[in-house]
Amino acid sequence: MNPITEAVRKAGVVGMGRSGAAAARLLAESGFSVTGFDNSPSASGTAYMTETVFGEFSEADFSGLSMLVLSPGVPISSAAPAMAEKLGIPVISEVELAWLNTGADVLAITGSNGKTTTVEWLSHVIRSSEPGKQAIAAGNIGYAFSDAVLDNPECPVFVLELSSYQLETTLTIKAACAAILNLTPDHLARHGTMEKYGEAKSRIFLNQGAGDTALLNYDDPLLDKYRDLSGGTQMYFSLNGEVPLGAWMDKKGMLCFKDATGSVEVIHSNTLALPGKHNIANALAVICMAVSYGIPAEKLTHGLKNFTGVPHRIEPLGIAGGFLWFNDSKSTNIDSLKVALESFESKVVLIAGGKEKNSDYGVLKDLIYEKVKGIVLFGSGRESLAVQWQGSVGITAVNDLEQAVQAASLIAKRGDSILLSPGCASFDQYTNFEERGDHFKKLVEGLK
Ligand code: ADP
Repeated sequence: MNPITEAVRKAGVVGMGRSGAAAARLLAESGFSVTGFDNSPSASGTAYMTETVFGEFSEADFSGLSMLVLSPGVPISSAAPAMAEKLGIPVISEVELAWLNTGADVLAITGSNGKTTTVEWLSHVIRSSEPGKQAIAAGNIGYAFSDAVLDNPECPVFVLELSSYQLETTLTIKAACAAILNLTPDHLARHGTMEKYGEAKSRIFLNQGAGDTALLNYDDPLLDKYRDLSGGTQMYFSLNGEVPLGAWMDKKGMLCFKDATGSVEVIHSNTLALPGKHNIANALAVICMAVSYGIPAEKLTHGLKNFTGVPHRIEPLGIAGGFLWFNDSKSTNIDSLKVALESFESKVVLIAGGKEKNSDYGVLKDLIYEKVKGIVLFGSGRESLAVQWQGSVGITAVNDLEQAVQAASLIAKRGDSILLSPGCASFDQYTNFEERGDHFKKLVEGLK
């Protein structure tokens, strides 16, 4: 290879986790030599990196780089991108890199809650619409877009979950359909203000033009100001009634869709396998995105009906010890806990707790009174939650999930539902919510 070209084809990747490793793989397969940077010496995604720099790094380490790719966990405001900018090195995100290496369409979804469910549901609905139809879910769901592009070179469409972190460094991604599902005050630590958080999310509409669709939740007033950002067609979904263009649930529970050609009844909400109003909202978003992508509404019913959900999101675990168990370990904030409780018709025994978020849990007191027959609290936030929920229903505080499962079994009566919906982060006792949910499943399995 010409030494000049060789010198140019050197890229840096900041963050050596799952996304960084995928970016390095894509770069390496495109002929780049890759230097990986990570503050943590335990970062392990180094397989495709020719050099690695752990711990502190300086401008000298960036010498000769023709681009710097950021993992989604690395804030744009951190030292590495600032240093690169000073040296005139372009900074892009891992998803942006993947986008530049595919000719496939992208359907993109962001929001505070419901992203993974909606992304998986939409890709399932597209695949189910006709035999042989392909669609791959990727992005923030744990399958990096770069890996997806490399693994599925023939796939015509990727359905991407994009976090606000990933969107901060989005520059050229042009989504055929882009959606913001909702906006709630989570993730404020990184973005500082709600304004900035919303701005990052609204970058999902960047570069959209004629023929593209921008989808917003009509029921979320915080999204109003993003209505005119896209150069594409604006679509909406609503649980409360008809929208100008898009999907809604009517008074009889029918999910309807309307575009310039007229309106159709797509499916009745009571035939969906997933519980809760929030999942009806997710289904409405799926309908809008699938139809705007060109799938006829009548071909959506099968995939809408037989999608059984994503693990750790109000996941039914069956009967054990005479009780019905549900794993909602993904519930890491108040909103998720609220929607989980609202999804149940009859009262549940609730297991909650973990690393408490800096939120006012007291706002759930009325709902708890209405939907919960007893609470078991575990983890580092148990005492604070017990104080905030005092006076609602009976509370038992224990150390860990194992004790929580035992305690809940003592409180519940035969046939009752027991729901793990922590409403808190898992980091006090687990690496992540998946590990917490898997532990819960194992404990429940042990009762069978
Ligand atoms: P995300 O990927 O945005 O974190 P998930 O699909 O993983 O979203 O769902 C996370 C939790 O959010 C679920 O346990 C559920 O309780 C709640 N949730 C799902 N969809 C919605 C929605 N449309 N509105 C509010 N909460 C939702």
